[in-house]
Amino acid sequence: MLLVSAPILGFPEKAALAKVVDSGWLTMGDQVRAFEEAFAAVHDAVDCVAVSSCTAALHLILHALGIGPGDEVLVPSLTFVATANAVLYVGATPVFVDIESAEVPLMSLSDAEAKCTGRTKAVILVHFAGYLADREEWQRFARVRGLHIVEDAAHAPGLKEVGTYGAAAAFSFYGNKNMTTAEGGAVIARDAQLREAIRQARGHGMTSGTHQRLNSRTPQYDVTMLGFNYRMDELRAAIGLVQLQNLQEWNEIRRILVVLYRRLIADYCSAVTVPFCKPRTSAYHIMPVLLPHDVDRQTVIDHLRTKGIQTTIHYTPVHQMTLYRQMFTEIHLPKTEDFAQRELTIPLHPQITASAIESVVVALATAIESSGRAGAAA
Ligand SMILES: *Cc1c(COP(=O)(O)O)cnc(C)c1O
Repeated sequence: MLLVSAPILGFPEKAALAKVVDSGWLTMGDQVRAFEEAFAAVHDAVDCVAVSSCTAALHLILHALGIGPGDEVLVPSLTFVATANAVLYVGATPVFVDIESAEVPLMSLSDAEAKCTGRTKAVILVHFAGYLADREEWQRFARVRGLHIVEDAAHAPGLKEVGTYGAAAAFSFYGNKNMTTAEGGAVIARDAQLREAIRQARGHGMTSGTHQRLNSRTPQYDVTMLGFNYRMDELRAAIGLVQLQNLQEWNEIRRILVVLYRRLIADYCSAVTVPFCKPRTSAYHIMPVLLPHDVDRQTVIDHLRTKGIQTTIHYTPVHQMTLYRQMFTEIHLPKTEDFAQRELTIPLHPQITASAIESVVVALATAIESSGRAGAAA
């Protein structure tokens, strides 16, 4: 089966894990610190905080910004549910914003403007599929209204711009992301005070970690805030250090594969639209395509599956999930809903060959042609 995404793991990761086991120090030690420094350096940041997931990262950022009950946070609905869940964790209200267009499925600036109220405190930008949101426009939008910008950068690690939009950026190292630590995440926050508040909240709100206490003369610590256990461990950090060495090269391979996909789709199945046709900085996390309105998506999914090609959907809009429908009735985001109904994510990861990409496009073309014929016969 040709998978939509697959982690690249090998001997260097095994060796790094064995070294940690041999060291006898399993959590929050030298590996985590080294990973934080290396991950920050890739993004031209002075430092970062490694955490247990991107979800934890988003929660910690909103918590450190003091966002809470009565506050509203603008979020896209075309995202993974964790983006909106983090807002609920701090007791604030997520306000769903439509996408710009099917061509640019990023949060719409004009819809965000329309949904701002006196209670709006922050906006969470998602760099959907790895394509970066417009930095200057969002900064102007936030500055005028005194809002915090938080980046959900789960799709866009390795780009220098990420983490420079506003307060902080949250990253994911889950198994299907551009680099992985199995489970894991990180926060880049340029403001030292915000960053250290996030670091403290990551570990129960304690004023020092176990490793620090080992190396200092005082075994004492204090708890000065209500914190969480969102720590990363040494095994994950060791895998992350190895993965990070490949991130730029893997992102470059993804870029080349996307160029190939775009050319072949234009040649073989021009009825399919590929979003982001205008150049835009990207980490090319996934390859979303839009099927024509008259094509039955399930038929296409089934056809590709018989050819050994996995596909997925990004995303079922968050506002249409049962939990959110129960909490927020009558939300209508026409562009997000149309996009989500026609979207199909086809395989994209650095180990896919050019010939595999060609076979995906050929299978897609065949599926669309036959679904069109079935439609004509009906
Ligand atoms: C994967 C993902 C997350 C959650 O990441 P975890 O590390 O699994 O918590 C959040 N937002 C987006 C957009 C994602 O793709």
